[in-house]
Amino acid sequence: MIDIKSMTQEELGVWLKEQGEPGFRAKQIFTWLHRGATSFEEMTNLSKPLRERLSAQCVITHPEVARKQVSAQDGTIKYLWRLLDGNCIETVLMRYHHGNTVCISSQVGCRMGCAFCASTLGGKVRDLTPSEMIDQVLFTQLDAGVSISNIVLMGIGEPLDNFDTVLRFLELVNHPDGLNIGMRHISLSTCGLTEKIDKLAEHRLQLTLSVSLHAPDDETRSKIMPVNRGIGVEKLFDTCRRYFETTGRRISYEYAMIDGVNDSDAQADFLAQHLKGTPGHVNLIPLNEVKESPLKPSRRVAEFQRRLERQGITVTVRRKLGGDIDASCGQLRRKAMGEGSESPADKVRPDGRKD
Ligand code: SAH
Repeated sequence: MIDIKSMTQEELGVWLKEQGEPGFRAKQIFTWLHRGATSFEEMTNLSKPLRERLSAQCVITHPEVARKQVSAQDGTIKYLWRLLDGNCIETVLMRYHHGNTVCISSQVGCRMGCAFCASTLGGKVRDLTPSEMIDQVLFTQLDAGVSISNIVLMGIGEPLDNFDTVLRFLELVNHPDGLNIGMRHISLSTCGLTEKIDKLAEHRLQLTLSVSLHAPDDETRSKIMPVNRGIGVEKLFDTCRRYFETTGRRISYEYAMIDGVNDSDAQADFLAQHLKGTPGHVNLIPLNEVKESPLKPSRRVAEFQRRLERQGITVTVRRKLGGDIDASCGQLRRKAMGEGSESPADKVRPDGRKD
């Protein structure tokens, strides 16, 4: 079956033409799909024979709400979606004064192995498709009855480990006949896959790249982020500088503050030294505790912030939303899975090879 919502409007046009359909059908079908149609029956401006032919050849993905939690504190909504094959992923809707933002997943699980992250505990099960990424925005919008203006790719998974899908998703979500969300309203967060960051730079997209740094020195970073072992922070910073030079876009460095691990004065100074002269800013994140991990939130966030600022670094501290509903990604999915592991899990070992 053809996953029709993963096709661009141009591809749809070519495919329909091969079947003797006029060019304007592509725009009609694309518009229906990206408004949330879940069957061809609904597409009343298409002829019945065409609708029947499409139904026989194509699937229209649409997730089902497996669980939904609404924060009593701030209205944040967390969705656990069940995909057509039974796998579950999470999406979070956050309401900020500048608009509604969704945090979406890019994979079922994750193989990056970060020590503080709940999404990686069961390994990666599979990549999402472009349509499954679109669906998270689309069906959150429809279910919650809100209009979404911003997207962050910060949910479950490593977006640059599903590179082609993510690029296609960006093209689809940006389309004027689709959700029409501008690149400047999209952030992509990566654990720092340097080759892929270089590849992304070639596309010169106007999105915001967030790099999950979490430590400025190799010893600490390799301990909490296995992906660093094959790369190293020097190479990562070089790549980030190059990214800025190519795209003109400042990088946002994510830094989850962990007690006694990455919150010392020496680490603040080391970070400031590295970032001097590189346009970018640091986003300090109060660590969300994950039950399976011994890591605790730092008590030095304000001091760390001041120390960086005194050295000329721009720093923000992430406001915590949805604290009462497990809003950090990965946690709800694990709960729903009974904290067990899914198979076949696909984890990367420290040497970069798969188990
Ligand atoms: N794989 C991508 C995107 C998903 S994680 C990445 O690594 O950037 C989204 C962000 O949440 C990352 O910055 C990640 O490091 C951070 N994060 C994961 N677990 C966390 C936790 N327990 N507390 C605070 N931040 C966490």
